[in-house]
Amino acid sequence: MSRDHKHEEGFIPNYLLKELAEKGNENAEKTLAVTKEIEEKREEVKKNLTERNIMGISERSPERLVYDSENTGEFQHKLVRREGGPNSTDDIVNITYDYCGKTLEYFKQKLNRNSIDGAGMDVISNVHFRKNYNNAIWVGDQLALGDGDGSIFINLGRSIDVVAHEITHGVTQFVNELEYERQSGALNEHFSDVIGTAVQQFVKGQTADTADWLIGDEIVGPNFPGKALRSMKAPGTAYDGDRQVAHFDDFDPNLPLSNDNGGVHYYSGIPNKAFYLTAVKIGTDKAAFLWYTAWHNRKIIHPNATFEEALRAILESAETLMHRGELPQETVTVVKNAFEEVGVSAPVPVLK
Ligand SMILES: [Zn+2]
Repeated sequence: MSRDHKHEEGFIPNYLLKELAEKGNENAEKTLAVTKEIEEKREEVKKNLTERNIMGISERSPERLVYDSENTGEFQHKLVRREGGPNSTDDIVNITYDYCGKTLEYFKQKLNRNSIDGAGMDVISNVHFRKNYNNAIWVGDQLALGDGDGSIFINLGRSIDVVAHEITHGVTQFVNELEYERQSGALNEHFSDVIGTAVQQFVKGQTADTADWLIGDEIVGPNFPGKALRSMKAPGTAYDGDRQVAHFDDFDPNLPLSNDNGGVHYYSGIPNKAFYLTAVKIGTDKAAFLWYTAWHNRKIIHPNATFEEALRAILESAETLMHRGELPQETVTVVKNAFEEVGVSAPVPVLK
């Protein structure tokens, strides 16, 4: 692993925590420091996990385990609910348990995937992580969910798109290991938003037309300057100062890596909008299934894949799935047009 390897961040991006800290928010500053520590821990965990996965785990039913950190920074501090066990008296424990279950259900039912590693890995979460912790983060083999400080962020574990977004970072770790910088990093972020939003629509019984396409709208507190962290439908409009862009013309390949790892959260807006445009035409679940299938094309989606390569992989999967009758006949055209609208194009592959 190179020394300048970039770590995945928590749900609340570091650049935003930095901005809030500069404006005098102490909890944002503390969260930032802790999040950096956790990012380093995760790299160790990931190495071990990959090895375990190569050795192979047999198909099994994943169990959900919820731990209470009791406002400490400890992982697996106190087990408060396990698979099939009784309800807790603590609301957040039950909600987290349910949301992990809904995310597993979505993966199984709609994407035919058995948990995070595809082999029934348990889903471990740690709630009430630290005090006033303004983040939710995937730590390589488990989730840590803060309560927020009640001012800028609230309820980090109470939002299904946050939980599903973070669990999906775990899935990406096993599927294609997209490097967390520049375009590949934006694709990594994008895929977590895709599954996060798809799971949310599934749970709320929404469709592409009735959903609001906002990410993190349930976790912003009274002093947050906007309605959500991101909008997939209209990137750049979620809050005052939202730096997401919606078109490849606004992509800056020279943005320093010190700035959001080269813009992973700014530029994820580009494929996010393309996904939205596809979903309104063929339906969110079909679009998510298409993206998920394409994401396994490791020949094209390599760790440093670009938006154009992602589009090529999606078009290739669209051709195959259309041929098998699993996607509507107009899918290739829909995807091509959606990406053209955000300034990304690639030739349509010819099926052999
Ligand atoms: Zn993320």
